[in-house]
Amino acid sequence: MKAIAKTKPIRGLEIIDVKEPVPGEDEVILKVKRASICGTDLHIYKWDEWIKEKMEIPRIIGHEVAGEIVEIGKNVKNFKKGDIVSVETHFVCHYCPACRKGDYKVCYNMKILGIDVDGAFAEFVKIPAFNLWKNKINIPEEILSLKEPFGNAVDTVLSEDVSGKSILITGAGPLGMMGILVAKHSGAYPVFVSEVKDYRIKKAKELGADYVINPLQEDMYEIIMEKTKGEGVEILCEMSGNEKALSEGLRCVAPGGRVSLLGLFENKISVDINRLIILKSVRIYGITGRNMFSTWYKIDKLLESGLDLTKVLTHTFKMNEINKAMELMEKGECGKVSLSAWN
Ligand code: NAD
Ligand code: ZN
Repeated sequence: MKAIAKTKPIRGLEIIDVKEPVPGEDEVILKVKRASICGTDLHIYKWDEWIKEKMEIPRIIGHEVAGEIVEIGKNVKNFKKGDIVSVETHFVCHYCPACRKGDYKVCYNMKILGIDVDGAFAEFVKIPAFNLWKNKINIPEEILSLKEPFGNAVDTVLSEDVSGKSILITGAGPLGMMGILVAKHSGAYPVFVSEVKDYRIKKAKELGADYVINPLQEDMYEIIMEKTKGEGVEILCEMSGNEKALSEGLRCVAPGGRVSLLGLFENKISVDINRLIILKSVRIYGITGRNMFSTWYKIDKLLESGLDLTKVLTHTFKMNEINKAMELMEKGECGKVSLSAWN
């Protein structure tokens, strides 16, 4: 079969021919129908310092995926050939303390699809049955692979109740864009967004953010204090991975406020913890992956109740156009970028 792989420790990706995967007893094989590109895949494409330490090559990449079950291991129950599934991409051990307490997303022995095991930018991919999510609700096929990153945004925004509360989302990349949709759908008001790229500023406005601020051109703190009558925002969702965005965002948080941190910082950062967190009694949530599988239930309910994820899917490429897709993502003139099946 054809697959997209990182084969050499240099910039770029290659299309390779490899043997089709064979399922173990508790696994299935999916024929990939849709995949989408995560920021992590862009790190792999660029082969920057941040990703080098995290993975070994050669590796078939890609983890955001939806497909049809075409083969099934002998112990697999509850799924059958022909089912269309999305995939929870964190493969867990089931036996470590985190797994045994039901907090699978922080499994001590986690393996991530497309990083630690061969991934989904291929014709076929092997997935543990435990990680499959059957798609029962009627939503467009092109957004089925977006459920995984959407789950990140859902957990970032909804780690506590947001209805009737003011919120600041720093960074309107694909995940920040999904965050805007979740916040608006869940009744947050006003929804402030900070972003520095023109394309994404425009997109954040289209998605319904109440105020979009470019911190390079405007004083975010002044604007937020004016609009919130000096109170500050009740919730900050940091979705940029930018140090300045975090520090400035924390400045805008009201005393007693809540902060969810999703953005990953490329380097160690420095924040005035005393002034911005401790003395304001701010609660902080680190967000990693998705809650397995309570978040997946929320995802379906949000989509079923009308949240329209197609609004953040701005571009679709063929698998063999992967390098072109990556160049676009590097420029940031896009929302979510999707890959259609090989054939
Ligand atoms: P992205 O890089 O496409 O988006 C980040 C956005 O932040 C960009 O649009 C950028 O222009 C903007 N930005 C940069 N500096 C800014 C500033 N000073 N103020 C406001 N905005 C600024 O990334 P994404 O795919 O949307 O993902 C968002 C973040 O979440 C990334 O850091 C990613 O690594 C991280 N992530 C974390 C998890 C997790 O499990 N914790 C999972 C997936 C992604
Ligand atoms: Zn575990």
